[in-house]
Amino acid sequence: MENAVKLLAPVLLAGLMLAPVAHARVCAVSVDSTDQMRFSQKEIKVAADCSQVKLTLRHTGTLAATAMGHNWVLTKTTDYPPVAMAGMRMTLADSYLPKKDARVLAHTAVIGGGQSTSVTFATAALRKGGDYTFFCSFPGHFALMKGRFVFG
Ligand code: ZN
Repeated sequence: MENAVKLLAPVLLAGLMLAPVAHARVCAVSVDSTDQMRFSQKEIKVAADCSQVKLTLRHTGTLAATAMGHNWVLTKTTDYPPVAMAGMRMTLADSYLPKKDARVLAHTAVIGGGQSTSVTFATAALRKGGDYTFFCSFPGHFALMKGRFVFG
């Protein structure tokens, strides 16, 4: 028995040393949205050691995406007003967002009542402790449907 332990110990140590230092960690967060044009949270927190975030958006209402659609968009707080304004000129098919805009750090599709959607994105582009805002870019919603996104 003692011999077996002695033989195994170096093997276990070698295994530990081969393990990557930084593990990929996908952190799941979710937020609900309503027919009353509201998100269920004013703040979403993601820990600093999350390498990826899986954000799930639910629409708990009954109205169609064309009437009361919601999405979840992440930008720096300074980019949020101009991106939201630019999004108002876009269409539902474009998720009411300017096309290929680098200021959009992550976003979901626009959904209607009873639907849910999700987006998974890397945190590599985010700065720990940075100032980020999430919002809905459906025209007219961004003033009410917004919150703080905290990373780190
Ligand atoms: Zn909305």
